[in-house]
Amino acid sequence: MKRKTKLIHGGIQGDPHTGAVSVPIYQVSTYKQEGVGKHKGYEYSRTGNPTRFALEEYIAALEGGTRGFAFASGMAAFSTVLMLFDKGDHFVVGDDVYGGTYRLLSKVFSRLGLNATFVDTSDLDAVKSAITPNTKAIFLETPSNPLLKISDISAVAELTRSQGLLLGVDNTFMTPYWQNPLELGADIVIHSATKYLGGHSDVVAGLVAVKDESLGNELHFLQNSVGAVLGPQDSWLLMRGIKTLGVRMEEHERNARDLAYWLSNRKDIGKVYYPGLSSHPGHAIAKKQAGGFGGMISFDVGSGERAEKVLSRVKYFTLAESLGAVESLISVPAKMTHASIPPERRAELGISDGLIRVSIGIEDIEDLIEDLEQALA
Ligand SMILES: *Cc1c(COP(=O)(O)O)cnc(C)c1O
Repeated sequence: MKRKTKLIHGGIQGDPHTGAVSVPIYQVSTYKQEGVGKHKGYEYSRTGNPTRFALEEYIAALEGGTRGFAFASGMAAFSTVLMLFDKGDHFVVGDDVYGGTYRLLSKVFSRLGLNATFVDTSDLDAVKSAITPNTKAIFLETPSNPLLKISDISAVAELTRSQGLLLGVDNTFMTPYWQNPLELGADIVIHSATKYLGGHSDVVAGLVAVKDESLGNELHFLQNSVGAVLGPQDSWLLMRGIKTLGVRMEEHERNARDLAYWLSNRKDIGKVYYPGLSSHPGHAIAKKQAGGFGGMISFDVGSGERAEKVLSRVKYFTLAESLGAVESLISVPAKMTHASIPPERRAELGISDGLIRVSIGIEDIEDLIEDLEQALA
């Protein structure tokens, strides 16, 4: 099955009982048992729900895994994954991961004795030298957020395999349509499904997929024990969104490329970060490991003041956190998504006050360019 066909026919589609073409919403908490412990595979909806299960099989199929898991948010998904580990364990984590991921590790799980070292995971030597005897896993995002740095998933996977570590990849920006980390050697793939997978700014959800059976069993144990599961209505909404992922990602990509070229030809703009530009340091690796470059662009307009002016003037770019939806979104990471990162740390990372991040929607590109043109003037 090719990519777009898999989006329509992968996992569980429809309902064998009625012939319904869409998976029904099983709005139910418990299931009648024929005798004690005798049931049809479902006992209680925290443990398993048919609508959620269809979504879980769907993401497993799309990522080339054997098991999938749906959670109440991307952060709930990541929290549950972190519960695979024990007090004293150490992680090597990308240094420009999503701000909430940084906060979760540095302010929450650190209190429980799980330690993380943040390094530039696009630099393999930096990753190697951050590994300690207590290191149990490496977590990375590629492209990263908001600087769109590219990490070589296969190279890091070779490292984790040789050292007996797990590799977790946050695949939110690329989606399974463009990039399949499990097939490149990662052990765990994590998604904020709130973004491209849902795609319509109407649902908050997280997904995880794994290939290894025992890891799948452990995660199911944790999903059921911790209980941060996705409800049936949101599971259904997410499946509805994912069906059009292919056409949306193609369109995001086309628009993003055009806009990135346009921005990089302007003299009044500093750096333009987009992995699809041949000048991007990670361009060759991105091309090798993914089918596309995605719909996220960051660019530096020089100062926080100018950034705010641009944001106040745009008409078609909605000033909002989040990304990956049909409508274009615009934000200033230093003041919004990455505000939870201390200013000194932001400066170290290169997240300047004048950095603008855009999530390119599927509007007509001529309108998006015209809009940015007048906002920058
Ligand atoms: C939004 C986001 C998250 C967090 O997901 P939520 O669904 O908001 O909890 C994690 N990683 C990345 C890359 C994100 O963009």
